[in-house]
Amino acid sequence: MKEASLDLGRRPEGRTLLTASWVVGHKNGSHRLLRNGEVVFDNNEILFVGHRFPGEVARRIDFGNALISPGLIDLDALSDLDTTILGIDNHPGWAKGRVWPRSYVEAGPYEMYSRDELAFQKRFAFGQLLLNGITTAAPISSLFYREWGETVEEFDAAADAAGELGLRVYLGPAYRSGGMVLEEPGRMLPVFDEERGLKGLKDAVAYIERQNGRHGDLVRGMLAPDRVETSTLALLQRTDAAARDLGCKFRLHMAQGAMEVDTVRMLHGSTAPVWLAKAGLLSDRLIAPHATNATEEDLTLYAKNGVSIVHCPLVSGRGGSTLNSFSACRKRGINVAMGTDTAPADMWMNLLVGLITGRVNDGGPDRLRSADLFDAATLGGARALGRSDLGHLSAGARADIAVFDLDDVIMAPSIDPITTLVTGGSGKVTCAVFVDGRVSMLSRKLAGIDMEKARVRAQAQYDGLIAKYPERSWGNPPVSEIFGSSYPVDADLGEVR
Ligand SMILES: [Zn+2]
Repeated sequence: MKEASLDLGRRPEGRTLLTASWVVGHKNGSHRLLRNGEVVFDNNEILFVGHRFPGEVARRIDFGNALISPGLIDLDALSDLDTTILGIDNHPGWAKGRVWPRSYVEAGPYEMYSRDELAFQKRFAFGQLLLNGITTAAPISSLFYREWGETVEEFDAAADAAGELGLRVYLGPAYRSGGMVLEEPGRMLPVFDEERGLKGLKDAVAYIERQNGRHGDLVRGMLAPDRVETSTLALLQRTDAAARDLGCKFRLHMAQGAMEVDTVRMLHGSTAPVWLAKAGLLSDRLIAPHATNATEEDLTLYAKNGVSIVHCPLVSGRGGSTLNSFSACRKRGINVAMGTDTAPADMWMNLLVGLITGRVNDGGPDRLRSADLFDAATLGGARALGRSDLGHLSAGARADIAVFDLDDVIMAPSIDPITTLVTGGSGKVTCAVFVDGRVSMLSRKLAGIDMEKARVRAQAQYDGLIAKYPERSWGNPPVSEIFGSSYPVDADLGEVR
């Protein structure tokens, strides 16, 4: 009886012992598997991982044929109603509302969502992350539908949502000192507004000073300049200095796309990592999604300076690019963390795509294992954040735990639990999630949000956004032309038999 002795949204009183057919334990810096293992936690801390716990416990909960795992860590965590999926079959991006045309910039970009909608979408996305066994998230969302950067107000709401749902988060509103503008079909140029970027940084620093440690330390700060091609050197220098002063990390998208690589070369005469290295801005404070366009020199600089990569194989692969290669990065000693970055916010699906694309890049199956991907989604994320108390189940670590069902009829037959879950590629088998010892998800239900009702609201909000796409697409075509359907849509096929 799992549910009778656990209350959703609450931290159980006294010691709780969890058991299942498999437990991911930890020894000498790496994960171990325990058959019929036990995990005991008290308050927000793990006391014991092993067999036959010698002490008294307030309750024992047996999850049956399941894997008790460290919660997954997502450092490019989808935190809005994903708009990249609109581009899956609709190209090129500049014609499909993914670059602001000059006409939209001159008309004055505006917030396409209301304050309530901005707050709601983060809460909804946090729910999706928990349903997928993700216990730590550094959110990412699109700025295309924004007036400029993200707002302090929506991040105050996000901090409260994380506290109420029970999700560990690294928060800071995204800011930028520039944007790409579509001057004519296919021709994009950056425009800069330095003061606006610096104001965004100042607001983000004040936000972090105010929010860091709130909700029982579930909320911590992270500086999030939007992307390298829309950042000035001054903005990045001040961001790095602020990260050092605040003791936090900063995340910057770079070495991730052809347009970015071309733009940075035009502006600064080199790749982004080389540009940052010259300015002394590469360090272990930097978390850098996605490295899919990184050169050998870029990767050498990452390794030398302790930069962590965030690998998001689903969104990269769907866009036709990959990290080349995961195993080569690890061999260089680069820390690789994982991110979801797109819908569905499913880490297991990402690990599967990562396994596949990694092996395609390696030209064979023997340099990359399922466990390497799982390491990245747990230990790699924790290392990027500088958190030795996350990403593994061992005495003294935070009680951030996800339980994955191994009795799923679709994934059957079940073999080694990590291999089964990676190759199964779906977070839908997540059956319980504990964050900081609190029950954040149980039997697919969450504290703080009714996901069935929220889905209806999310769809309506999203449909409203889609209706606004013509305003920021080149030539203002109707929605039906911007986003074609997969097959012709006919009201009547006209066939009578
Ligand atoms: Zn990303």
